[in-house]
Amino acid sequence: MIDDAADLTRPTSGLEMFTATVAAGADRPMVRYLDTTLTAREIDLFSDDLAQRLIDDGFGPGDRVAVLCQNDPGFVVAVIAAWKAGGTAVPLNPMYTERELAFALVDTGARALVCLDELYSAGAEPIISGGDTDVVTVVLTSADDWRSAPESPSSARMPGAPASDDPALLLYTSGTTGVPKAAVITHGNLTAAAELYRLWTSITADDEVLAITPLFHVTGIVGHLALSLRVGAPLILAHRFDATLLVQAMRDHRPAFIVGAISAIVALVDASDGADDFRSVKWMATGGAPVSAAVASRVTARSGRELSIVYGLTETTSPAIATPIGEVGRVDPESGALSIGVPLAPTRCRIVDDSGRPVGPGVVGEVEIAGPQVSPGYWHDGAVVDGPVDGALHTGDVGFCDSDGWVFLIDRRKDMITTAGYKVWPREVEDVLYRHPAVAEAAVVGVPDDTRGEVVSAFIALESGATATVAQIEAFAATQLAAYKRPRRFTVVTELPKTATGKVLRRELRG
Ligand code: AMP
Repeated sequence: MIDDAADLTRPTSGLEMFTATVAAGADRPMVRYLDTTLTAREIDLFSDDLAQRLIDDGFGPGDRVAVLCQNDPGFVVAVIAAWKAGGTAVPLNPMYTERELAFALVDTGARALVCLDELYSAGAEPIISGGDTDVVTVVLTSADDWRSAPESPSSARMPGAPASDDPALLLYTSGTTGVPKAAVITHGNLTAAAELYRLWTSITADDEVLAITPLFHVTGIVGHLALSLRVGAPLILAHRFDATLLVQAMRDHRPAFIVGAISAIVALVDASDGADDFRSVKWMATGGAPVSAAVASRVTARSGRELSIVYGLTETTSPAIATPIGEVGRVDPESGALSIGVPLAPTRCRIVDDSGRPVGPGVVGEVEIAGPQVSPGYWHDGAVVDGPVDGALHTGDVGFCDSDGWVFLIDRRKDMITTAGYKVWPREVEDVLYRHPAVAEAAVVGVPDDTRGEVVSAFIALESGATATVAQIEAFAATQLAAYKRPRRFTVVTELPKTATGKVLRRELRG
């Protein structure tokens, strides 16, 4: 166990986190998956074997390994093998279409692909056989691979340990707008982020971590995998998000830490028998998308657990701002918005105006983040480009701080609606809609309008069994919102369209 809480520079690489965990207890469980438990030694041997295979095929330092897996042991083994072979892992979304997958393989110039067999036949195969990528090694994995013992130690001549500045991961940002971009996450970013999670959660090797977020997303790879490698806590995996399956895993393994999108947390709480299923959970957190105070208190009422919030981006390797341990979330008395917390030391957060000057408490501006977890930039043609000029990342999120430094987000800069000259922040309207007991989900977007420029348009999904009419919800919104902020259109849907990590696909709602 490492006691020096303030030292974010050790270990220096993802590989070193892993080897320290193996050295601390090779026979300890590292990954639980279906009815299989893999020890640290087994993951070490499987990843040795894969790294050897990559090296035999000419894979060298700096090369990229694309990883197209579900939340399964193959993902963990592929990432560690990529590092052992001196390379960078490129986790890809299994829901990618053929076009998106081809783009990512070409964009990153991946030389190897580790792929779950069913995903290969479902989409990757034509791209690889089409010959337009640089992929020379394809390794297919299946659930059965992890049931048999791994090979004995190989004689691979592995390159030396990665340096702190070497890229550990290329992570595509959520891509809800524009051309997808891969953020370069260095080993130093990754280990700093894992250490921030460790300090925030106080998770130890005696705890277990339940993965409810896809591992290809930054919250999953950092808040599940890197945290678990950092502290030596077993990682519980389920190959797809199935709330019933995950609740069963909670009953079997009693996890201490859960972090995920609010939609995943709500699904888990709804599929559970309530507080008893959550009794081992010391820490439950949500991040990646806004959560209203009303939804957070519904979750707490059903699970018996306070819901913490973590805020970050792919470009901040996940954690940047979070509600402090043991403190109840803070609500802005004026807007009713829930705070996302305070910067996790040594992260620095500033709210800046349009000319980049810091503003004082209560003044709205763009959130800027600096710290050891901030990515140096994006991957483009083998180079790192468009990084933060002065080390501070302009997040595109708009918010303010109170006088104690708690941060409140208002919205994404680009989601602001301009209607008849007025500015409307969708989140404020959504927060009001969520306060109506019949509303399970709400999203508000601006849709083009000839006379007003845009009009506020609300999409809502009702709680099951709810009988409220649109007119009633509209009347409720009218008591809470100035006329220009009130939705002029309401559409009832069964579920909002979302990314795999719970971000609402506003683009689809705009139509
Ligand atoms: P991604 O790169 O996919 O992790 O997306 C990052 C974006 O997710 C941020 O810029 C925010 O807009 C949003 N986000 C992340 N965490 C939170 C949070 N706790 N509350 C509200 N929005 C969040």
